Amino acid sequence: MSRFKLSRRIQALPPYLFAELDRKKQEVRSRGMDIIDLGVGDPDRPTPKFIVDRMKREAAVPANHQYPSYEGLPEFRAAAAKWYGERFGVSLDPADEVVALIGSKEGIAHFPLAFVNPGDVVLVPDPGYPVYHIATMFSGGKSHFMPLKRENGFLPQLDRIPSRVLAKAKILFINYPNNPTSAVADRSFYRKVLAFAEEHDLIVAHDVAYTEIYFDGVKPMSILELPGAKKRCIEFHSLSKTYNMTGWRIGFAVGNPELVGGLGKVKTNVDSGVFQAIQCSGIAALESGEEAADAIRKTYQERRDVLLPGLRSLGLDPVTPKATFYVWIPVPGGYTSASFCEHLLTKAGIVTTPGNGFGASGEGYIRMALTKEKGRIREAIERIRKIGF
Ligand SMILES: *Cc1c(COP(=O)(O)O)cnc(C)c1O
Repeated sequence: MSRFKLSRRIQALPPYLFAELDRKKQEVRSRGMDIIDLGVGDPDRPTPKFIVDRMKREAAVPANHQYPSYEGLPEFRAAAAKWYGERFGVSLDPADEVVALIGSKEGIAHFPLAFVNPGDVVLVPDPGYPVYHIATMFSGGKSHFMPLKRENGFLPQLDRIPSRVLAKAKILFINYPNNPTSAVADRSFYRKVLAFAEEHDLIVAHDVAYTEIYFDGVKPMSILELPGAKKRCIEFHSLSKTYNMTGWRIGFAVGNPELVGGLGKVKTNVDSGVFQAIQCSGIAALESGEEAADAIRKTYQERRDVLLPGLRSLGLDPVTPKATFYVWIPVPGGYTSASFCEHLLTKAGIVTTPGNGFGASGEGYIRMALTKEKGRIREAIERIRKIGF
């Protein structure tokens, strides 16, 4: 059996913190308890009909049944570039500054393979989307975690990173609007990031999966809006959250042509691109999806405006999200992330995500997702009121 022993790379993966929670969820479900799942960051509503209709047509086109081009259809890359121009005022050359992705997770996971050598350091937000750290490990690099704290608006304190770390650092990962904290970054933060990256010769890899899930009409920006940003930045964009398309697996990366090209080199060797019918549906979403995206934003904002006052009425102190569909909540006194999640699950049938699952600095928080209808959110609040904490 020793031949089947998992590689050191897999053995070194961080423990799956949700295993115990998954087991308890099964147990609660088998007791016949009704479960309200606010755990998963997956839109509950279907993909807009015009996108599904486009898919039905494109699926029947024989030309779409063959291998797609590695970097994405020229029409898809052009649509992504046009969308970036209209949304952010950023001009991109579809020929070498845009690459199609099989979901942005795929791009994020492959990116360090193109630029990180064993021993190099990657700067990773904590708490954060787990893929930044895991992709770093898979490429032989070492993560240096940057704590995101409430008192700093959940922005990393770049001046706290030791110079011995910076000497080996290659990539700086950032993610705003942020999962799991829901924080948004402003122009002055991005200016700081860019100056810091110039000073220490870093690549900036910005995960922008949530730029379109914003509230109160305030649109988050792209770091590529800053003059000179294209010299060292790449952004990972996704259609998943914007258009309720998580299952379709489509996104794109944009920015510096060498960075986009490096990622493309990895992809050429491991995957064969995005099903063309899906790319065509993605074009439809990017070209005609603004109304649908607006309705999706409105839905989450209404849910937020039910959940937030509800949580406050219970005596909790959630962070008010300006974007994303997450609510980041400090646990009440006497609880850890895990014990509060367990309390809500076993006593009230409410699934939430323990903050420490996103990194050590997430300890002391839980995350709720706005991916259930308002009635269910109200019900969750009333159940918590009943059980107390
Ligand atoms: C959902 C999510 C993604 C990836 O989405 P894809 O479906 O792979 O495009 C990337 N980053 C963050 C922070 C996410 O929450």
